[in-house]
Amino acid sequence: MMIGIYVRVSTEEQAKSGYSVEGQLRDCQEKAKTKEVLEYIDDGISGSVLDRPALTRLREDIKQGLVSKVVCYDPDRLARKLVHQLIISEEIEKRASIEFVNGEFARTPEGMLFYQMRGAIAEFEKEKINERMSRGRVNKARKGKVVKNSYMLGYDYDKENGMFIIKDEEAKIVQLIFNLFNNPPSHIKGMNSIANYLNEMNIPTKKRKGIWHRNVVRQILLNESYTGVYHQNKWNTEDMLGNKYRSSEDRVAIALRPREEWITTEVPAIISQETFQRAQQKLETIRRRSSKQSKRKYMLSGLCRCRRCGNTITGRYSKNWNKYRREYTCLKNSVGAKSRGCTPSMRLPADRVEVEVWDKVEKWLNDPSEIIVASEFENESSTPSYEEAEIARINDEVEKLRIARKRLFELFSADLDISTDEIREQLNDNSQREKVLQSKLENLEQKNNDNQIHEANEVLLQEAAEYYFEKEGHLSFEEKQELLNKIVKEIIIDGDDVHIYSY
Ligand SMILES: [Zn+2]
Repeated sequence: MMIGIYVRVSTEEQAKSGYSVEGQLRDCQEKAKTKEVLEYIDDGISGSVLDRPALTRLREDIKQGLVSKVVCYDPDRLARKLVHQLIISEEIEKRASIEFVNGEFARTPEGMLFYQMRGAIAEFEKEKINERMSRGRVNKARKGKVVKNSYMLGYDYDKENGMFIIKDEEAKIVQLIFNLFNNPPSHIKGMNSIANYLNEMNIPTKKRKGIWHRNVVRQILLNESYTGVYHQNKWNTEDMLGNKYRSSEDRVAIALRPREEWITTEVPAIISQETFQRAQQKLETIRRRSSKQSKRKYMLSGLCRCRRCGNTITGRYSKNWNKYRREYTCLKNSVGAKSRGCTPSMRLPADRVEVEVWDKVEKWLNDPSEIIVASEFENESSTPSYEEAEIARINDEVEKLRIARKRLFELFSADLDISTDEIREQLNDNSQREKVLQSKLENLEQKNNDNQIHEANEVLLQEAAEYYFEKEGHLSFEEKQELLNKIVKEIIIDGDDVHIYSY
């Protein structure tokens, strides 16, 4: 939208060089990187009064939404007194942004104080907004509403009413998974084989294009929400908001709230309590049996794949330079193996890989922004979504509006026999239309992002963090394995490179 330049020169200052109207205009245009600006000039007027014709006009135009950015030589131009400078700049920043050229004034004690105060006020405002937002969400949850979409298979999120709605075709998949697990037909055995079955039957994942993994199946079987009990306000993430401004040691980790602060929300159930409990018992049995069975333990078993040959990577205890060691390899010796794997076969010392993976996952828990969400790296599709196509179309339209506006500006400065009010009105109309388009764009982009966020990423991570923080970071081998299984979808190993993908 439009940029307004505010210039003020008092009678005494007119004599001084660098403070001329032309000088200020030129410097401001340079700062704005455009000459396509609206000019507001108070010539020969003192900064001790606030009622100045051009300043009043500028404030009015900002209120009307005509000007969205103000460029000014320095805060001293806005007003003489610090308090007035702060009031005006705060008023401007409610609806527009403001930039200063930052001349000499920025280095004077008055100037430094202005910038510090302004920064402090902005910080304070941000905190207030955050606090208000999270309070609003908690209140909503207390009233029995689901406050945000967690992309769970089986549900759609009704944002307006704050509730999950059962999505029939997906709910059927959830029920099928529980059923296959609790009462397996003879050809299906365990979670891996359920995942394979779902892939073979072309049953879509939440993301539609995704592939079923053993761990996706496992997460569904562990998800208590399907019995109609959904916990909110479990996690304190508010303090993490400032993390991007903090050094890595000072970053705040996600924190589990005490249980009494959790808010349990009733949501439509997809499976019965009995079905869920039955699955939990079976899962527990499997866990116990598998930890007994394996003589040597491999933390990453069932999670790794070799990028070069595509084989799964398994742990084995093997002789290397006359010494036995645990290692991971893509070699498949068994008769039925589709591929023998890489030649020469890829073999990595298990200790090294496990430490590397665990370090990375610990970092994730402390700073989720570091997470690599598994994109559709298996089958990338190049067809743009509806949202992407629509975004391109609207961007075109915005560009056309900008061109029209440029013409209006040319008229504005051409000094023709047209009333400037009329042009002002057209400009106003033009910027209103752009505003509408921009908000449409924002919505679409949000939607497009939502599509790309994997369904359960956040919830999974929170559950993993819960586990981790309850143990205060001291986890046994089995516990680490358990946690990895919660959040790691797949680990792709390419020679010495280890890439970990979360859900
Ligand atoms: Zn390989």
